[in-house]
Amino acid sequence: MLAVRALRPNLLTLAAILATACLLHLIAIPITLAAPTPDTNTPPPAASMTTPHPSSTHSPHSGPNADIQPTPEPKVDDRQPGKPPPPTPVPATTPDARPQALPGAPVLLGHSVQERAIRGVELGHGPRWLAVIGGIHQGREANSTVLANLLLHHFRDNPAEIPQGVGLAIIPDLNPDGAVAGTRANANGVDLNRNWDAGWQPDAYGPSGYVPGAGGTRPFSEPETRALARYLLKRPFVAAIFLHSRGGFVVPGPGAGSVQLANTIASAAQYTYLRGWTAYPLSGQSSKYLVQRAIHVAIVELTTHTHPDFPQNLQGLRAALAWTQELPAPIASRPNAPVPSDTCPWLLALTPPTPPPTSCPW
Ligand SMILES: [Zn+2]
Repeated sequence: MLAVRALRPNLLTLAAILATACLLHLIAIPITLAAPTPDTNTPPPAASMTTPHPSSTHSPHSGPNADIQPTPEPKVDDRQPGKPPPPTPVPATTPDARPQALPGAPVLLGHSVQERAIRGVELGHGPRWLAVIGGIHQGREANSTVLANLLLHHFRDNPAEIPQGVGLAIIPDLNPDGAVAGTRANANGVDLNRNWDAGWQPDAYGPSGYVPGAGGTRPFSEPETRALARYLLKRPFVAAIFLHSRGGFVVPGPGAGSVQLANTIASAAQYTYLRGWTAYPLSGQSSKYLVQRAIHVAIVELTTHTHPDFPQNLQGLRAALAWTQELPAPIASRPNAPVPSDTCPWLLALTPPTPPPTSCPW
């Protein structure tokens, strides 16, 4: 008994020693296993360069939690199997893939009457810039925005198709308020292709006839037209294509350069080439204003109000890009709108002289 009694404390101490050893061991496990957790958190600095959002949410959470949690063993064990592969490499590869998938620089041109953003994307490097504008009229012409978006996706996925020396800017929707409301005009009831400072009138014609106030209260009274004009002149652009529907033809802006551009698109897209618009009188048009500033303009009327005519217009735009490449490089800045009559008297002529001009900017 004595021996047993004498042994008991020893056994008890042994048990105590073992227990503490186990406890220490248990503590040691979470420490060693918890160490990778902070390691998972330490990568965030590296990951935060790429994906700031996850790292910022992770570090406050898992870091402190790993320290505070009293019995983290099971959680740690649960985490372990899933842990080795994901932590660092996944966030590192995702952002790398992004810029490759989405080349092109987004541009904010301005805002609509109802404060909706008017956005574009620039692809290629210029210095000869070509703009494609959809949605200057919404409502029944909304398929022009669909087409512009399809073209944008195509050239964003195939940037190598943009020739050297050319930049392509696509603005899918100039009239976002009209797109939401399903109207041709903007939120002020103004036709955005009758509001430019070229032959402007307060009342204007459209497909539904004479519309009082369709021109706006003054030239460039609307934020949408101001945003586009400012952007096109600032870059500066050498050519612009406006997408409308419907008709299945291409009309040039005034001037020989526009005639060439419209012909180029019409033959590549297999649309009819229409020399001029005769359906009703036009005022405050974008094409007239832009040609006065040495930007060649072609107006594409899609065949219907429903289909975007993408394959046809892809061919048309490829041809327009090749045509743009042949243009002389533009001057770096376009000083206050050269007056056409000063430099090139027939810049606004619908029918240019047959020997092509040599003294004009195209
Ligand atoms: Zn239109």
